[in-house]
Amino acid sequence: MSGTTTQTERERQSFAEAALRLGGKTDEEARRTGAVDKADEQVEKLFAPQYQTVNSPVHKAVWDGRVPLSLFGPPSLPSSAPCDAAMESCLQVVGGRRDAGTLHDEKGKVSASVLQELGEAGYWGMLIDRRHGGQGAPFARFARFLTRMATLDPMIAGLASVHGCIGAVDPVRTFGTPEQKSRFLPRLASGQALSGFALTEPAAGSDLTALRTRAVAAGEYYEITGEKLFITNAIPGRTIGLVVVLDGKPAVLIAELPPQENEQFQVVPYGLYALRQGHNNGLRFNHFRVPRENLLTPPLGDGLTIAYHGLNLGRVSLCAAAAGVMRVLLANMLPWAEFRRTYGQPINSRELVKRRIARLAGLIAGADALVAWTSWLIDEGYRGELECIIAKIFGSEAQKEAAIELFMKTHGGRSFLHGHLLGDNIYDFLAPCIYEGEGEMLGLAFFKSLVKEHGKAFFEPIGKALQREQIRAFNPLSPKHAWALRRELWSYGKWKAGRWFVGRDRQQVPGMDQRLADHLAFALEAFGRFPDEISATMTRHQLKLADRQCRMAELSQRIQDTVVVLVTALWAHDQRDEAVKGAADILCQDLRRKLTGKRPSDRYFRDASQLADRIIGGGFEALAGIPQQPILMKYENK
Ligand SMILES: Cc1cc2nc3c(=O)[nH]c(=O)nc-3n(C[C@H](O)[C@H](O)[C@H](O)COP(=O)(O)OP(=O)(O)OC[C@H]3O[C@@H](n4cnc5c(N)ncnc54)[C@H](O)[C@@H]3O)c2cc1C
Repeated sequence: MSGTTTQTERERQSFAEAALRLGGKTDEEARRTGAVDKADEQVEKLFAPQYQTVNSPVHKAVWDGRVPLSLFGPPSLPSSAPCDAAMESCLQVVGGRRDAGTLHDEKGKVSASVLQELGEAGYWGMLIDRRHGGQGAPFARFARFLTRMATLDPMIAGLASVHGCIGAVDPVRTFGTPEQKSRFLPRLASGQALSGFALTEPAAGSDLTALRTRAVAAGEYYEITGEKLFITNAIPGRTIGLVVVLDGKPAVLIAELPPQENEQFQVVPYGLYALRQGHNNGLRFNHFRVPRENLLTPPLGDGLTIAYHGLNLGRVSLCAAAAGVMRVLLANMLPWAEFRRTYGQPINSRELVKRRIARLAGLIAGADALVAWTSWLIDEGYRGELECIIAKIFGSEAQKEAAIELFMKTHGGRSFLHGHLLGDNIYDFLAPCIYEGEGEMLGLAFFKSLVKEHGKAFFEPIGKALQREQIRAFNPLSPKHAWALRRELWSYGKWKAGRWFVGRDRQQVPGMDQRLADHLAFALEAFGRFPDEISATMTRHQLKLADRQCRMAELSQRIQDTVVVLVTALWAHDQRDEAVKGAADILCQDLRRKLTGKRPSDRYFRDASQLADRIIGGGFEALAGIPQQPILMKYENK
């Protein structure tokens, strides 16, 4: 119970834990949520202050009274980099194997020889520095490369992210000692050691404080006992970042799985609809031995700190892969929509189908814009927590919508034929909404990160004062309550009064297309309103806000959508391709209507049709070179 919390414990508590206790949550819930919040705070401290969440572009845009436009528009990539040659070789390997029909083995999995050829071409070392045998690719280049790779094979693109972002590469690169780096990184770079990350367990998915896999010291080793679930790329012989509980705290060990199952280590097989061309299975450990020297020891925090660190790279990669997959969907929608005739006309002449084409182009533009922006922030040194969550949610939701609302509907019954792009891959199109954090849960995490500082500054002191004064329900009209909380309320009042003097943000970008300039102005105005709205929500729900998940999710999504409008408009301004600018405009119009609740105008439908005509005419550079699948059940068009 909260009453038993000692003074020192209270000082150690994170904001979330303190707020939950003050709000009357059970000791267990407060402690568990606090543990996650603590890990998050420790990840923050690994970054220099100017790159932490409070100084991130989105946090500043919401709370600083003026949107820092320069932090929302990345510069273009340098025209070349030393990693380019390896990237081109990897694309050639996959393109060649794909054309020859030899990407997969007899079980339909990406074949071992493809993985090896990719290793020789430098694929697995893209994010590892040259000193340790890698390509040293800047993350922004890596992310664009993943989009291209996903147009050839999304599973192979996904494996690069599993290995390099959330697998063993990021943990060792970031948290390994020099000895651990020189022991593991060259093997990870060459692909001799392919890796995954084993965090999820049957009882611990969304709630990572429920981990049960235990490590116990035994001489030179840790002995691991427990079970992992849904682990990608973790078959016998692979290397995994293994999250365990050690001395009561989460810890990460780099574990080399034996080449064969044995008494101590078994694969838990199951049928999984998603990722069928890769491996995803459970892992069971029974006194499985990992050398003690394989324990990663972060300078701050524990295993959750390590797990959280790589997630943001994974989130951007997911959006980058979605940008590639959506290109494939659009490139395959166009020939079908031209071929299929109903009532004597091809369906690509119909307004409904044209709207889908335009919308899909808009989603591609949005994903490209978010990838360019977030990957640049990562290279600049930002943690990018808020920004990468936006990319993950947008990328996964856009891919889902593209597949089901746009692609499936346009392809009609053929969508469900064996051999059809939709039917064969539907689970892969949907699964990104769940892995690397389910979207709505992440939306809540976004909101909590965004309001944390404001809460700590103004609401935590009020909560503590209420507890001190033993006031159960605060009544702002009660003079007694107002007097008891005068210091805390004065401080909040000063912030509120300061808001009166914040002028409207009217920044402009010289030479911007009028449509994009309107979207920019819309976003700036919306940012001007968010602080009051968020603060009013916090005032209304006070310490019960944690239970108002639907309100937090709703507000979170509106802020995210506003960021997407801003980032897409700024990105489109720098693009040469008129169709891309048009696609960005369509997405921004869609998001603005979603935010304002307005109905689409006739002008919007005209814009969408015109954009679709341009794309149908071959004027969308983003589709250049994308392979197309044959039309199924083809017939003679009379
Ligand atoms: C194809 C695929 C690949 C994967 N690869 C990996 C991998 O390589 N390594 C790895 O460690 N994991 C992996 N995962 C696991 C993945 O990260 C988890 O599935 C995900 O984090 C969600 O956990 P869960 O499935 O246990 O959901 P659960 O914890 O069962 O939650 C189900 C749902 O309940 C709701 N919910 C839960 N808690 C709350 C709450 N407090 N408030 C409101 N709603 C709530 C949410 O909607 C949530 O999505 C993979 C999963 C899939 C499907």
